[in-house]
Amino acid sequence: MSSVVSRQSPQPAAGQAQQFDAVIVGAGFAGMYMLHRLQQRGLAVRLFEAGSGVGGTWYWNRYPGARVDVESMEYSYSFDEDLQQEWSWSERYAAQPELLEYMNHCADRFKLRPNMQFDTRVTAAVYDEDTRGWRISTDRGDEVSAKYCILATGFLSAGDVPAFEGLDDYQGNTYLTSRWPHEEVDFSGQRVAVIGTGSSAIQAITIIAKQVEHLYVFQRTPSYSLPLRNGPLDRDFERRVKAMYPEWRRRQREESRAGFIAVNNQPMAPNDKSALEVSEQERRADYEMRWESGGLCYYSSFADLLTNQEANETLAEFVREKIRERVDDPEVAELLTPRDYPIMAKRLCADTNYYETYNRDNVTLVSIKDAPIERLTEKGVVVRGQEYAVDSIVFATGFDAVTGAISRIDVRGRNGANLNDHWEGAPRAYLGLMSVGFPNLFFLDGPCANGALVSPMLLSEYQVEWVDRCIAHIGTGEAASVEPTQAAEDAWMQHMHDVSEGSLLYLANSWYMGANIPGKPRALLSYLGGLEAYRQQCEAGEADGYGKLVVTRSREAAEA
Ligand code: NAP
Repeated sequence: MSSVVSRQSPQPAAGQAQQFDAVIVGAGFAGMYMLHRLQQRGLAVRLFEAGSGVGGTWYWNRYPGARVDVESMEYSYSFDEDLQQEWSWSERYAAQPELLEYMNHCADRFKLRPNMQFDTRVTAAVYDEDTRGWRISTDRGDEVSAKYCILATGFLSAGDVPAFEGLDDYQGNTYLTSRWPHEEVDFSGQRVAVIGTGSSAIQAITIIAKQVEHLYVFQRTPSYSLPLRNGPLDRDFERRVKAMYPEWRRRQREESRAGFIAVNNQPMAPNDKSALEVSEQERRADYEMRWESGGLCYYSSFADLLTNQEANETLAEFVREKIRERVDDPEVAELLTPRDYPIMAKRLCADTNYYETYNRDNVTLVSIKDAPIERLTEKGVVVRGQEYAVDSIVFATGFDAVTGAISRIDVRGRNGANLNDHWEGAPRAYLGLMSVGFPNLFFLDGPCANGALVSPMLLSEYQVEWVDRCIAHIGTGEAASVEPTQAAEDAWMQHMHDVSEGSLLYLANSWYMGANIPGKPRALLSYLGGLEAYRQQCEAGEADGYGKLVVTRSREAAEA
């Protein structure tokens, strides 16, 4: 394979022309592993990252309380047995600083840094028909060429602050959960507003409430949140998992619905019964057992929770009861109780004392369901004509998810076609990996793959390995190119549509549907067929010699 610059080349000066085999965008879990795989193949790779360090999500989301809600033992790289044996998590659910430490450790351990360029945002990627490669531009003036361009930009990375009227008038401090300052923010003695009650807000609110003089939470839609039951990692559990880690990972990959299998410190297969075929007593026992276990393990509860509204309602009502038990004031409890959409149709949240936080005297819930925020003023937030004067506003308002980070790059494929135009209405990508007309461009954790309902760790590891094998198959020389056939892309989109038919996800205004961003077309952005089905589809795509792709192999690869 051609390798134009050394793998260990020093960082290029901004603006310098460079030629690579592959450019990767993003130093989160997916981008880092992709870099590791391609480095191992001896390819010349440059990874561009907008942040000043590795971590992706865990670099940017430093808000108080930020932590993962998939168990640390399962939310970590599985590709390297030595790494997973040697690393030891301190908590059942790692907090952001520890996750960032882990990712920095991986960057060092796998010697990734020499091929990473930080503080650099990729602004454009243009396909060059002559070289069958990509010209990539950055905000630092870099102009580099690469045979392959791999967008590992994350599906929850393009933060969004709604265009509130008067946003610029507000004179206090403003914070966005997904772009939190690196230095500690001290809210003590302050009146603070948090706008939003999704996963980020639910984590931040419980911590901020303890610091402030008064906290106002502005809630448009209540979430269903479950107790996380975090704590120090149970060392006996750690030993048991490590003694069988490869098998544990196999079960995560092949026998789980959402990519994790631990329930009550045991591996547990998904329940394949309907919630309606068992007795009330049996159903309740399952829900209580998972409530005590903690976290998101309802994803492996009854098989029809996301396809049958009556089944779904049994769990929704169970959680509503729990909310009523956790909140002292019945009126506040009712405001916090979701009634307008099925449970899990928006992503489940998990918390530590979230509902109990509303029992504090210094916390006020302001429901904006029927009366949206009118405007921001110099001093604060106005709802129903009442001004809530605050010293700081925390926007926990979410992301332009799945497509947002990709759409902010000017991506042009064959004949100058713009990727945003190709995806107008809804993103289209064969296996969620490649789009017609955009040869040698790969998406990791992008649209039309399982991002929404599967732990991103497993999905991205799987996709990285697929892309790595595909690149190895094609080679890096002049003639090499690969893109899906139109028929393959159409068939994948049809399959995606078929497996999502009847899904309750359509019944909520969530980021799963692009419905949280005004003006964004409403469309299901993720594949709902499950990880194992996805893996089988990907493997079928390889088993026939990449028959669903138009592959032009390089001379070197053909000769090899
Ligand atoms: P989110 O779930 O989309 O929540 C955004 C919140 O902002 C919602 O409550 C939303 O209300 C509100 N909002 C948006 N626009 C608004 C407006 N104009 N006026 C008032 N309220 C507005 O975003 P997120 O909390 O950042 O979480 C996104 C995803 O990131 C999660 O679903 C999860 O996948 C991931 N995440 C994971 C963790 C974890 O692992 N622990 C932590 C944080 C995030 P509506 O619901 O009415 O739109």
